[in-house]
Amino acid sequence: MLKTTDFPPQQALIGGDWVNSATTLEVEAPATGEPLTRIARCQPDHVDAAVKAAQQSFSGQSGEWASWSARQRSEWLLRFADTIEGHQEQLAQLECADTGKPMAQAKGDIAACARYFRFYGGAADKLHGETIPFETDFAVMTLREPYGVCAQIIPWNYPSQIFGRCVAAALAAGNTIVLKPAEDACLSVLRLAELAVDHGLPAGALNVVPGLGSEAGAALASHPDIDHLSFTGSPETGTHVAQAAAQHHVPVTLELGGKSPQLVFADADLDAALPAVIKGIIQNAGQTCSAGSRLLVQREIADSVVANLCERFAALRCDAGEADADCGPLINARQKAKLEERLAAAKADGIRVAAMGQLAPNAPTGGHFVLPQLLTDIPKGHEVLHEELFGPVLVVQVFEDEAEALALANATDFGLCAGIWTRDGGRQLRLAKGIRSGQVFVNNYGAAGGVELPFGGVGRSGHGREKGFEGLRSYTRIKTVAIKHN
Ligand code: NAP
Ligand code: MG
Repeated sequence: MLKTTDFPPQQALIGGDWVNSATTLEVEAPATGEPLTRIARCQPDHVDAAVKAAQQSFSGQSGEWASWSARQRSEWLLRFADTIEGHQEQLAQLECADTGKPMAQAKGDIAACARYFRFYGGAADKLHGETIPFETDFAVMTLREPYGVCAQIIPWNYPSQIFGRCVAAALAAGNTIVLKPAEDACLSVLRLAELAVDHGLPAGALNVVPGLGSEAGAALASHPDIDHLSFTGSPETGTHVAQAAAQHHVPVTLELGGKSPQLVFADADLDAALPAVIKGIIQNAGQTCSAGSRLLVQREIADSVVANLCERFAALRCDAGEADADCGPLINARQKAKLEERLAAAKADGIRVAAMGQLAPNAPTGGHFVLPQLLTDIPKGHEVLHEELFGPVLVVQVFEDEAEALALANATDFGLCAGIWTRDGGRQLRLAKGIRSGQVFVNNYGAAGGVELPFGGVGRSGHGREKGFEGLRSYTRIKTVAIKHN
């Protein structure tokens, strides 16, 4: 059980100090609909002060962060990974209460956050430029430099993991940060920020401005003094923030979700594939950008696969995060209403709910639960096949052959991930090359999160890459130095 002292400050972190806002926002527990605590509601003046603090830390006279060598940054990040692990229980409880996700997943998310700090801690002093052979009287080198002040706007579905992914990489590369967490879930992020400052991160290297997207978020994306913007969330908000950043020619990384397919061929190892198909859609109650939300199955095994999945769906249980069931609630009443409206429209269009999970007997009554479900008999081109539903809803399509499977897989504007289940090596490679997406998994889905593996989208899923060394490089830019000598 969370105690009052477990909650982070109801303030913004600016220049190493916790700063009050004139008003605060209530934080609700999605599993019960009950209030949990409050958070600061930052306004443009907080964002401005946070950007100034980040600038000071990066380049000002008091810029302690700027004076740290790559080795010092590396050592701090590695130590901070240990700190996170030392607080795993409390951080997981915060994330579980705040998002409603099952406790086991929340613990895994905190472990992944620590892994980001360890990975980027290890990488911080191994990133370097090149020398280029040019004319004989020249020495030419490239310097890989941090951008400066990185604005990071993150969502509510994986607050601690996305904190790790963005913050560890940007700090490792030597940047400073102003982070706007999501109003709906930011308690673990605020606690992580508090731990970072308490464990010696120089003032201003990381600033956190909680509040509304339309207030703090919009002020940050349009701030003239940010040097880079990384955004994770919906395509619509992604367009807004990219337009705002473009006013000041600020480079952006956009991670905007997906409608990722899982392709199951008749020769697949179904004992491995089917549990992964289920996990790919119910993890985080389907509120995952990389959710495997479309199942494409080959005709000759379609009936038996659907029958098998129906049994698995019927066995799924929804409950509060603490109960550690298969599925937690959705994040808020708005997301639940939006999804239920789409499901009602789908039913009215003749789409069949082939199977559904259940609410656990003692699940709280006020929670935003939507039962996991499997949809079949879907008319060609129906919106459930190409729109992100962001809930535990799997849509099924049947294909005849590899060519049709590829065409269906690519019949979306999104392109984040894809899973291919087949024993045929040639087909694995042909499809891996043919599918339009940022990640392709063969005979697995998600590679257990893989902090080391570059991640990002194509088309409506966004652009730029996070995670792995690519993520670290994306927080740097190249300067070319050409020296003429005798
Ligand atoms: P969202 O609007 O894209 O929110 C993402 C982040 O952007 C939050 O921190 C949000 O702040 C902030 N934001 C909102 N409006 C902004 C603006 N005008 N300027 C700057 N920042 C702004 O997503 P949502 O409304 O929470 O969820 C809606 C849909 O987005 C979901 O149904 C899902 O399809 C998609 N989504 C995708 C991901 C993903 O991982 N790709 C994650 C979350 C949601 P506040 O929320 O605090 O207002
Ligand atoms: Mg929101």
